[in-house]
This record gives sequence, C-alpha cells and structure tokens, in this order.
Amino acid sequence: MHEIIVNLHMHTRYSDGTGTHKDIANAAIKTGLDAVIVTDHNVLVQGVEGYYRLALSSAVTQRLRTKRVLLLVGQEVHDQDRVPQKNHLLIFNANRDLSALADDPQALINGVAAAEGICFIAHPRDPEAPAFDEDDISWEDWDVQGYTGIELWNGLSELKTLVPTKLHGLFYALFPQFVGHHPIPETLHRWDSLMENGKRVVALGGSDAHALHLNMGSLHRVIFPYEFHFKTVNTHIFVPEPLSGDVPTDKKMIYDALAKGHCFVGYDLPASTSGFRFKAKGLEHSTIMGDEIPVKGGVTLQIHTPLKANIHLLKDGKIIARRLNGQDLTYIATEPGIYRVEVFRNYLGKKRGWIYSNPIYIR
Ligand SMILES: [Zn+2]
Ligand SMILES: [Zn+2]
Repeated sequence: MHEIIVNLHMHTRYSDGTGTHKDIANAAIKTGLDAVIVTDHNVLVQGVEGYYRLALSSAVTQRLRTKRVLLLVGQEVHDQDRVPQKNHLLIFNANRDLSALADDPQALINGVAAAEGICFIAHPRDPEAPAFDEDDISWEDWDVQGYTGIELWNGLSELKTLVPTKLHGLFYALFPQFVGHHPIPETLHRWDSLMENGKRVVALGGSDAHALHLNMGSLHRVIFPYEFHFKTVNTHIFVPEPLSGDVPTDKKMIYDALAKGHCFVGYDLPASTSGFRFKAKGLEHSTIMGDEIPVKGGVTLQIHTPLKANIHLLKDGKIIARRLNGQDLTYIATEPGIYRVEVFRNYLGKKRGWIYSNPIYIR
C-alpha cells in the first residue's frame, strides 16, 4: 500500500471561492499534496480534471519543476431554496451533475449510486455564527441510507465554533494556525453512534477552502488561502500502487480507496502525519483501516505514529488503551467491535487532535 496526501472539499469562482482551478493546483504543488478534489456548490465543472505542473518561470525552484498534482472534480450539493440551507452532500466520481435532486436528500443519495458515485455528508455539525450572520447549516436528515461516510473534520465548521465576536474572527483571520483543535465533538459522537447501529461509515477530513477576501477598514487580505488549508486537515489515502500519471487509473484507485475507508484524517500543521499506520493481524488474515476481520483466534492491532504523541485506541467509541508520549501501541483484541485510533499532540500551547483513523471492524 502507498500513502498519498489528498486535500478535498474546496471552492473556486464557479461557486463562492475566489480562486481558479489553476490557483488550487499551484498551491497544492507548493504544499506537496498528491491530489486535490474540488467541490463547487451545485455545479459539476467539466474539462479541468488532470495532472497540473507549475508554469515555468525564474521563480520556480528546481525541486518544484518536477512536481505535479492530480486535480479531480466532484461537487457539493444542497437545496438552495431551503431556509436555512442545511444538508450539504459531497459527491465524488458521479458521471453527471446531480444538483437537480438537491431538494430530497434520500433521492440525491440514490441518484449518486445510480451515477456510479460515492457521497459523504459534509460538515455534519456546522453551528451558527451570529457575529458573522452565518446560519447553522448542519445535516438534518439522519434517517437517510446509502451514503459512503461523513466529513469528520471540516476546517470552516470548527472556525464557526470559535468566533463569538467579530474580534475573535479578526484574530483567527490573522493567526489561522490557532484555529485547528479537533473535530466538533458532536460529529465524533454521531459517527460512533452511526457505526454502533451497524453502518459502515467512512470518515474524511475536508478543508472547505474558499480563499475568502477580508476587507476591514484599511485591511485587505485573503484569509485562509488555499495554501494554508492544504497544510492543515488532509485525508491520507492508501492506494495499492503509486500514482501512475494516467488520470483514469489514478482517479479510480483514489475513489476505490475512499469508498473502502482506506484512509485517515491528518492535521498536518503541527507536524506531518505521513507514516501513521493502523493494522490488524488475525489468525488467517491481515488488514488495514477501513476493513473487516474475523475475531476468531484473536486479532493483534498495531498502531504506529511518525513522531511521539499520545495515542488512544477506542472500541465502540470508548478508550480501551493509551500510550502517552510514544510511537507504538499494540493490543490484542478478543471481542468483536469497531476499533479506531485518535492521536494528540501539543501545539501552540494546547493539546490538539493530530490523527483520526478509520476503523477496523472486528466481527
Ligand atoms: Zn457546505
Ligand atoms: Zn463547502
């Protein structure tokens, strides 16, 4: 398996972002991403998918000249007539624009399957931010069936929990490195309870990058530029082969891996999360996060982090083992359950979430 770093969920001028697909590709190359998935609101932009390189100029260093990034295009669909505009769905790999189905979440999810796509509930909990006239745009219709997973950590929803006043907003606009703490706790609980009810639910991390312009008095700047977002919450995906450079082949590998949950959410700003591993070894099978393994004969769970950190192993939403300030944790599981990992590190004076794995389902 090969680990690649993907940033997903972002907006261009085709909806409410301020940059172009080319701007996004340039920022992604500079931050060292392997792929990005652009998801404009209620539009499936055609003709821009592919590998991008930086335009050659004297400012481009030798190292960056050889770099490329795969840009893929999905969409974020919601009902624009709904007040407030809740129920946002991230759709990848569908063979057509599905925004016409936006007014009925279940019909939309069914439409994604019919269009051979996969879909994820965007920012499941997204509270209001009255100081900025922002509504609560959480997901409401939790009785829907057939979606692939949820966006566990969304950079913008978390910001909305931190800005009771305009002054707080200004602080985080100027010092965005202080925003990221962890996924919204209600979203984590929601994820665990969906899985306890027997669903397989894949977790992703999304940036929701817009590269917004801020104008306050004499201050004009782009806040949360794409390049900043690409260094923060990423989805690290395990693909069976290294990316080949052939767009259809690589696109299929990435979406197959996302559909299976062969990925983890990494907050890469405190330190790169590349190299994190969570594996299971049973009597006859071995597996990685996202997969199922039989409990018969016991299952050895192995966790490795790229740097020393506080590692928590959870079963059915509850911590069952911890490693403080270490890089490895091994645990022998003898009971069926949903096992997942959370890793924390100190950064800018606070303990912050660093890694959230997809689960290994022991049956
Ligand atoms: Zn949204
Ligand atoms: Zn969005």
